[in-house]
Amino acid sequence: MNANAPPPASAAPARPPSVERLLAAPEAAASLTAHGRSAVLHAIRSVLADGRTGREALVDPIAIFARVDARLVQDNRPSLRPVFNLTGTVLHTNLGRAPLPPEAAEAVSRVMLQASNLEYDLARGERGERDDHVEALICRLTGAEAALVVNNNAAAVLLVLNALAMGRETIVSRGELVEIGGSFRVPDVMMRAGSRLREVGTTNRTHLRDYAEAIGPETGLVMKVHQSNYEIRGFTAEVEEAALGKLCRERAIPFAVDLGSGNLIDFAAYGLPPEPTVREAVANADLVTFSGDKLLGAVQCGIVAGRRELLAGIRKNPLKRALRVDKMTYAALEAVLRLYLHPERLHERLPALRLLTRKTTEIEAQARRLLPEVATRIRAGARVTVEPCMSQIGSGALPVETLPSACLAFHPPEQSARGEGTWLKRLSERFRGLPMPVIGRISDGALRLDLRTLEDEAGFLAQIDGFAL
Ligand SMILES: *Cc1c(COP(=O)(O)O)cnc(C)c1O
Repeated sequence: MNANAPPPASAAPARPPSVERLLAAPEAAASLTAHGRSAVLHAIRSVLADGRTGREALVDPIAIFARVDARLVQDNRPSLRPVFNLTGTVLHTNLGRAPLPPEAAEAVSRVMLQASNLEYDLARGERGERDDHVEALICRLTGAEAALVVNNNAAAVLLVLNALAMGRETIVSRGELVEIGGSFRVPDVMMRAGSRLREVGTTNRTHLRDYAEAIGPETGLVMKVHQSNYEIRGFTAEVEEAALGKLCRERAIPFAVDLGSGNLIDFAAYGLPPEPTVREAVANADLVTFSGDKLLGAVQCGIVAGRRELLAGIRKNPLKRALRVDKMTYAALEAVLRLYLHPERLHERLPALRLLTRKTTEIEAQARRLLPEVATRIRAGARVTVEPCMSQIGSGALPVETLPSACLAFHPPEQSARGEGTWLKRLSERFRGLPMPVIGRISDGALRLDLRTLEDEAGFLAQIDGFAL
């Protein structure tokens, strides 16, 4: 190729106006007022950069600003935002677990906007303890002598193991060496805490004598882990907490129970499958660890509750400082714990419990009421039906138990029978792309929206107006 030859005229692409010219264009004025120069400049540059790789040359300022404005809207949208969790899993870890009551949101916003007495004893005018804001409430609700709060239950377990069994053995049943979603594996946490794992029993059967034989001079702690996300059935044996607690007291070894889900109430009284309470565990163990955002229905945190002298030692552990939580967590947790002081109204006021205790007949009625409203709004060729389904509690609580519920099922149109999977994927993508994304579940050839967790019906309908695939 001759380097001196001029390029053919047709190859000279139209060039977009310069960034300076665009910033001065009348189309820029509104965006500049709304977002400021740097944000608009950033959006122009990224639109032009995309344009260079696109097929058509981007030269018209009006076309450019249509994209710049769209980009600015997108850039301004928070990354973390609310969604409709219609997956059927009420406490969905990936979707933020427990929804909080307005009392908690108000308490959080009060302390986040100004200074607070987070670690300040107002009566004495001196430094205080942040756990004081919730400790008495936790003790009252669980029967524990003392309690502290850390970042989550994984942190609570890490802290207990490190404080009581660093450089020593922790005895755990083989049937309880569990992995809980998000890479929390009991043996790994134990190693990181500096404690050596001493496994006893077998996967399906562990007896009191297995523990009794394992306890020795190296033992720092005996731990029982609640089988959160699975169940062993058949020829099984595990040791009751009461018996294990008695053995540990006789041998003067601390006994901890990792309960996982922090259930403070009698589930059966609310018509739910029975689930051990923190109070029952506290009665037998020296220390109990549990999450704040599973069945307890509050904010992400981990709680250690139990004997006063053990907690005093744990509080002094440097890991407590590293794992401590912010004032917003204490504010939300305190507000939720206060709701528990009024158990008669708890199932109305605590969202997690309200959703878990919704009557199936009520959810079915809601589904039938919504069906025509949804069918007229959604133009996707779908056949929409009301069908029974099963909700799960989630977060590893009661893994085997399900709650009968009702869903809206979106079946693919007949003609797409072969591309059914693609159609279902596109439909769920479209639901996820809504201003307030709707997350459902694909099963048995349909996209299903479990209505157990749909409280804001009007908000849901408003945003599917004009929905087309
Ligand atoms: C959920 C769970 C954990 C982890 O709790 P996070 O609050 O998610 O950190 C630990 N142990 C058990 C038994 C659990 O169920």
